[in-house]
Amino acid sequence: MPQPLSTQPEFYLTVLSQLSEAIVVIDQAGGIVFCNPATEALLPGGLEGLAVPNKTTAYQVLDPHHRPLVAAELPLNRALSGQHLNNEELLLVMASPPCHRWVTVTSCPYPGPGSGHSLLTLRDISASKQREATLIAQAFHDTLTGLPNRHLFMDRLSHALALAHEHPNGLMALLFIDLNRFKVINDNLGHRVGDDVLVEVGSRLQAIVPPDCTIARLGGDEFAVLVEDIATSSSAIDLAEQLYAAIGQPFLLLSQEVYISASIGIALGPATYQSAGEWLRDADVAMYQIKDKPNQMWHIFDSSLRMQQNLRLQTEIDLRQALAKGELRLHYQPIVTISNQEICGFEALVRWQHPTRGLLPPGEFIHIAEATGLIIPLGWWVMTEACRQMQAWTTTYPVMAGFTVSVNMSSKQFSEHNLATKIQEIIVKTGFDAHRLKIEITEGVLIDHSDTIIKTLEQIKAMGIKLLVDDFGTGYSSLSYLHRFPFDCLKIDRSFIENADQDFEKLEILQSVVRLAWNLGLDVVAEGIETPRHYAQLKALRCELGQGYLFSRPLAPEAVEAMIMQKLAHSLDHTPTV
Ligand code: C2E
Ligand code: MG
Ligand code: MG
Repeated sequence: MPQPLSTQPEFYLTVLSQLSEAIVVIDQAGGIVFCNPATEALLPGGLEGLAVPNKTTAYQVLDPHHRPLVAAELPLNRALSGQHLNNEELLLVMASPPCHRWVTVTSCPYPGPGSGHSLLTLRDISASKQREATLIAQAFHDTLTGLPNRHLFMDRLSHALALAHEHPNGLMALLFIDLNRFKVINDNLGHRVGDDVLVEVGSRLQAIVPPDCTIARLGGDEFAVLVEDIATSSSAIDLAEQLYAAIGQPFLLLSQEVYISASIGIALGPATYQSAGEWLRDADVAMYQIKDKPNQMWHIFDSSLRMQQNLRLQTEIDLRQALAKGELRLHYQPIVTISNQEICGFEALVRWQHPTRGLLPPGEFIHIAEATGLIIPLGWWVMTEACRQMQAWTTTYPVMAGFTVSVNMSSKQFSEHNLATKIQEIIVKTGFDAHRLKIEITEGVLIDHSDTIIKTLEQIKAMGIKLLVDDFGTGYSSLSYLHRFPFDCLKIDRSFIENADQDFEKLEILQSVVRLAWNLGLDVVAEGIETPRHYAQLKALRCELGQGYLFSRPLAPEAVEAMIMQKLAHSLDHTPTV
């Protein structure tokens, strides 16, 4: 047991004078018997404010919810009435200089000489309260933009829903804002620039939404606004259009002007909603309807969308099993040489033999496969099956030995590592000649993967595989990449063919695209040739290859075989083919 250093009173007084806590002993009448120097620092003007509920005192005492205390609740009066206070938190509002100070107060009967004396200890906890407040703010705010985060937004939504039960006829709007192709900025200009964009978007949105609305960053490139009191749905649309226009203003990034667009989903409430989650989900579903669709600013949720969403979810669940259960099929659409209408190859197009819904076209499920990542195994299955089938046909029908097969590859597949090695493995496994394989990619692939794509495309090309730009003219129509990337062929989108016979401008574009392709040494395939008139026009333009319902729809493998048999029979009769 260590010996006490000293029993001298000065020693204890020195110790007490060094404490940051205020130590006060009061007698039965509230008179001060003792207080250390920290007391004056903590309670300017003395103890009066701890006993008198009056704004004229040097400080006013409030409870933790910032409510003023009446006389009987004030700590000194409670101590005098014999109550024990145990670290009770109080807020002192100082008159001068005006500031807040958080303290804890403890009181107990003074154990030394002097009956009825009380000992009070007051500790300044302002610093830890400040830290706590910062932590709470961080937990509910997005650190990048400073806006409320998803957590706080959901809380506000729930709160708004609860209030709405009291005023069921009120109208509120939830706007879900998603930036289009934000990934391209992150990938091409770096994450720092991406962050700057998000901060700028946050402040542009904040500048527009009325002050009584809640605006939050939900995460990534998603923002949301809750408008708790709107007159009609058109006020929500007006706001959506203003937000859209603000985001559409150019961003100056690394000294270049960059344009960004957004998709905005609107869900009107609150009457139809039981939970915040449902409400936000519907706004998200509405946004998804127009995602990446040019010139579509906003979309309002209606209940038919919920049915579509349920169907989408069910499709997603079924699609996961479709691959394993072998429900996918390939159909083959002939590609012909325009000059003589002879078949020279096929485009392999995926179908899904759904157990209850029948044969589904890709439009019903490819976007879901893309969104869920299932496109990757699906894409490999398509390529493997197309090569296997073509190789099998080559063996059975030598007349098909020169036919090519085109396979569509999605942008998502290009995120895979060792893409070229995987393609090589398929070539080896199926024994198909790589020179007869064509890969169709859309312009979006080049934009999404601009930094790594050239190397991958060159590796693919080095195997002898041909590369083709699909749906040319519908994407970003930036011709510069045609020089940069090693393409062999352009496939002109059918929208150009469709209208070229009525729309002179479209015909002009078609002509220039064919000429451009020639100048770059690229082949041209025209897709969507439906009428003899389309055909005549493309023939006049001297476009090499064509594909369309005029020649044949996509065919199941058995139908291809039947067609080939017929072709063989016809050629024996020396009659024209197809
Ligand atoms: P795409 O690659 O542009 O394929 C051509 C689409 O146009 C096919 O639709 C085809 O049936 C249709 N088509 C061909 N000729 C005509 C015509 O004369 N008139 C009209 N109106 N349409 C014509 P499909 O089979 O529904 O495929 C749609 C899209 O789905 C494809 O467009 C492609 O982007 C995607 N897709 C199909 N199979 C696959 C696949 O295996 N992988 C991936 N990633 N996407 C695929
Ligand atoms: Mg295609
Ligand atoms: Mg196409």
